Amino acid sequence: MADSVKIQGWCPTAWKPMQAQDGWIVRIRPHCASLNVAQWRALAELALAHAHPQLELTRLGNIQLRGVHASQLGQVRSQLVAAGLVPANADEDLAPAVHCSPLYARHDLTHQLAQSLSHAAATRLSPHALQTLGLNALPSKFGLLVDDEQQSLRDIGADLRLHVLPASAQTEHFAPRYALTLGGSGKTHVYANATEAIEAAVQIAIWFASERVRGNQQDDRQAITRLQQKLAYLPQDLPALRTATVLETSPDASATCPLTPGEHGRHFVLGAPLGRVNAQAVLLLASHLPPNTEIRVTPWRSLLVANGATTIAPKALDSASWIVESRDARSRVSACTGSPGCTQALMPAQQLALQSAKHLPEGMHLHISGCAKLCALGKEATAVVYASQSDAAQLLLNAYTAAQPQARIQIPFQAQLSEPAQIQELIHELSI
Ligand code: SF4
Repeated sequence: MADSVKIQGWCPTAWKPMQAQDGWIVRIRPHCASLNVAQWRALAELALAHAHPQLELTRLGNIQLRGVHASQLGQVRSQLVAAGLVPANADEDLAPAVHCSPLYARHDLTHQLAQSLSHAAATRLSPHALQTLGLNALPSKFGLLVDDEQQSLRDIGADLRLHVLPASAQTEHFAPRYALTLGGSGKTHVYANATEAIEAAVQIAIWFASERVRGNQQDDRQAITRLQQKLAYLPQDLPALRTATVLETSPDASATCPLTPGEHGRHFVLGAPLGRVNAQAVLLLASHLPPNTEIRVTPWRSLLVANGATTIAPKALDSASWIVESRDARSRVSACTGSPGCTQALMPAQQLALQSAKHLPEGMHLHISGCAKLCALGKEATAVVYASQSDAAQLLLNAYTAAQPQARIQIPFQAQLSEPAQIQELIHELSI
């Protein structure tokens, strides 16, 4: 049987949550990747009172509450607004997301760029702002990103990506310059100041909002969600593009995660197994930290505790909930939601991933997926196992390495018997 997957329509937010098998998903998009301890405490308490007792960290640095009952959605949103975690109006919440690298110093140029771009997205690219131009809202998957100077997030997909050029690439007068990369184009536009770079990003987003509906039927419009799909038609005489210097770049150069669990100078990075953080463990962590401590969300399934090297005592933390050193085997696995949380899941992907972790050799990263859709599959995965169904409705485990995606191994899946042993068998075969 062909692997059939159902594509969900949108990325959830707090004002437009998404229904899953186990309740509603409410997504929080942290401003500049940062929350303070009081906000983390508010989130953890909401999870314990109204959702699953785990906070999910997404690959874009968002945080999700899962399993919220429909009758609680209004109350949850009010409390998120009161905690300063979500905009007070739907229009701002439904503006395109601006994701941000956690690797900045407060008030440095990267931080200022992220703040200014967030403001521009909220005021000029929200559904209402576009409506005043006679345009429909941008698709919810459309996203902007502010990277750090080292471009640590270049593996993370974004339609419009901005960063401050490193000092080595600045002009001889050491004036900062700003780069704007258009998703998948292989071209970077360089600007002399942040205002011009942000203006260019806004103009391109507005152009995309009008271009995606031009001459297309309703179904085609729905399918056009990313800038890359329309880049070939981008007019090079767009006013904001004319002021830029254009550099050819390699859009898909891969980045390695610069933040493994443990101490990083003054900061401490706490890994979250499979990107899920136990709400009780968050409350325990918060009780050890000064209330104004900043805890940033990273796109690498971890939290960066600012200045945490002196305040975090790893032994005082719940070891089942946190990864405090990079050699922890749980760093070598990832998984989608799987069953029972996802309607399309054919197996409990998270449980299998945690059970399989200790069997993985160093240097291997295994992603386990409950179906062929492969949600949340990251570039760090060196091997993938997913479930599918045969024509005779038999459950199958499929495995392949990232180096040879076409060479797939398949074995029958015997749920309830010895799942980790079956995964082990596949890993062994893949390693040969
Ligand atoms: S990959 Fe996982 S989360 Fe995505 S649809 Fe399949 S089972 Fe669900």
